[in-house]
Formats: sequence, structure tokens, C-alpha cells
Amino acid sequence: MAAWLPAPPPGLLESVAAVSRRLGSDPEFARGGGGNTSAKAEGVVWIKPSGVSLAGLTPDALMPLAMEPLFAMLRGEGEAGEGTAGSDPVLRVGMAARLRPSDDRRPSVECLFHALLPDPIVVHTHPTTVNALTCAAGGDEVAAELFGDEALWIPYTDPGLQLARRIASGRAVFEARTGRPAPPVLLLGNHGLVVSGGSAEAVEERSRAVVAAVAERIGRLEAADGGGAGLSDAAATDVPGAGPPIEAVAAALAELLDEAARPRSVAFDGSPLARWIGSTGAGHAFLLGGPLTPDQIVYAGSWPLLVEALPESADDMRAVLSRALVEHRGATGAAPSVVVVAGMGVFAVGDTPALARTALDVELDAARIAIGARRLGGVRPLAPDERRFIEDWEAEAYRKGIAAGPAAER
Ligand SMILES: [Zn+2]
Repeated sequence: MAAWLPAPPPGLLESVAAVSRRLGSDPEFARGGGGNTSAKAEGVVWIKPSGVSLAGLTPDALMPLAMEPLFAMLRGEGEAGEGTAGSDPVLRVGMAARLRPSDDRRPSVECLFHALLPDPIVVHTHPTTVNALTCAAGGDEVAAELFGDEALWIPYTDPGLQLARRIASGRAVFEARTGRPAPPVLLLGNHGLVVSGGSAEAVEERSRAVVAAVAERIGRLEAADGGGAGLSDAAATDVPGAGPPIEAVAAALAELLDEAARPRSVAFDGSPLARWIGSTGAGHAFLLGGPLTPDQIVYAGSWPLLVEALPESADDMRAVLSRALVEHRGATGAAPSVVVVAGMGVFAVGDTPALARTALDVELDAARIAIGARRLGGVRPLAPDERRFIEDWEAEAYRKGIAAGPAAER
């Protein structure tokens, strides 16, 4: 690969990094390693690498890639016979497109759609409020009402090459229909938001405006029906204060889920939102209906465990949890990262306190998404084949010993 690397226009990378840090440190827009940003000039895309959070992105961390090899992949050239079964073709092409070959970091698996969007700045986030729309059944119709031709709806598509091609074809269909350039806002079904533009500041403003428009619509529906589809039914049905102490449940979960003799951390939330999940029919439907977004699969797991109210006695409580965990493993093939206890709230388990906290935050975000999606017309969880694609991809990432799976960078 030619290593000719033009200097980026002055201030370009700095402005993208600054907006990335602002949006990345706002929990509305990103959790964990979710989301990615890029800048383009002179046939080069500078993109966020894997394993770097938006909140911590610096200008020199952006990875320069030649765009032509990415376009060739989108056109379907040079794929046949490449690589071994199971290796990710986008990652392979992305690594080959590096303009600093000594840089062994991995570019974001979404580098293809960053390259194909013509605007110089692209910001992709997973806003909780926008995902209430993208995870709503009929969300495309609500989006058309809210944004008209100012946003393009992209139905859920497997990440990487498939998603990039779906975006390219969606843009082409729009342009053929309207005779105008495709809009700078993409709503990705069950996934998130992509906004592009000429300056990082304009893209940030547009991203915040999309969030505000969806929030306004949900707020109006909430006011109109007096709060009935949301949290108001949670407090009525659960009985906070009954059952064993939170610390005792956390300690029992840490011990019971300590499979490989490594210490597990447990995070807990007993807010009305957390109790809504375990104590209402709508909460149970959310929990048992399957994950809504790839983030939820990656950080919180596809299938949380739901436990009915726990007995107060420490021995009995431990026995109930132990039995429930055995049954859960039998039914799903894996230990849960999230355990919801009716009347108490949500426990999340991870290898470190930070990972447990992220699992908890993402699960609660997913509950917010479900509540908003109910307001907007109904929840549309990921279909089984969509869910399994992410689960298998994650599993492969772990088999290879890669800390964060591809979906974690989306
Ligand atoms: Zn994403």
C-alpha cells in the first residue's frame, strides 16, 4: 500500500476530536466504546480506531486510511478467495488501507460507510432517545412525519459491509426518487444515528437537533396519555424494602457467577426505572422480548435473568439464585451479565467494577429505549437472525482474544 499521506486541512482533526469528546462524554450519545467519527480530505479518511472511546479521542489517535481500497470493497472487487473462514473481510481491507503501516491498531468496522458518505465530517452515535425511534415498530413512519426528506431511514442491517452497502443503496434510491442529494441524517434501525456535514460543529448541532425532535415527540405522547405506558405503573406493583439486603444479593451473585476463579464485580440500581423492569408486565415483556440493539448484546448480554422476589433468609436467597442461574444456563447456554430481581432492581456483573457499571448503564438505557418505543407505537426487538449475527461475531472476537468485539466499535 502506498504510504503517501497528505497533511489534513488545519484544524480538521482537532475539531472532529473535540466534538467526539463532547458527545462521547454525554451518556445520551454513547456508552462504552460505542459510536465512531471521521474526517475526510484528499482521498483519505481519518477514523476512530477500535478500542478508543469517543470520550477519550484525541486528534493524533485518528487513523488515516486510503479510501480507494474501501470503495473497491464496496464495489465487490477483490473479495473472492481472500482470507480464511471466519476472518472479518472489512477488518482485513481496513488494515490494508492504513497509510501509517506501523500503526497496528484496528480501524472501526464501520470505516466503509464513513468513506462512502460524501461530507468531510461524519459522526455516528447511539443516542438513547433516537434509538427509541429506531427500535419502534413503525419507526420509519414516525421518522417520515418528524423529518420528511431531511433524514433517511435505513432498516436494521448486519454491521460492516452489509450495512455500508445498504446505506449506499438507500442513498441512491432517495436520489433517484427526489432528484436531490441524499440527506445528511441517517436513522439506522435498532442501531443509532449518523450525521454528516461540512464542519464538526454543524454536525454536532444537527445530532443534538435530531435527539431534541424525537424527545419532543415522546414527551408530547407522554403528556397526552398521562404517563400510562411509562414508569407510573412501576411503583404501584413492587414492594421496595422487602427481601434480603442488596449487599447480600450482590455478594451471592459475585460468588455464584465466579466461574473461572476470577473475582466478579457487581453493580446495582434500584431506581424506579430499574424496578419497572422487574415489577411490571411491560418491563417483563422488554426483558424477555430479546435485545433491542447490538450495544445491548455486547455490553449487557442478550438474555438477562429475571428472578421473582427473593426470600429474606441468606441461605434461602442463595439457593433460589443458584437454582435460577442453573436453569438460565440450561435455557440460554450462558451465564447472565444482568440479573433483575422483582421488587429490588437490576444487578449487573462484570470482570471489573467499570464493566459491571457499563452493563448496568446499557441495560437501563435499553429499558428507556423500550419505554420510548412503546410510546412511539411499539417495540421492535432485533430479529433472531440479526441477534445471532452479533452474538456469533462477539463470540468469535472473544475466541481470538480481542478485548472488544466488532459490534463494540459500532
Ligand atoms: Zn454504531
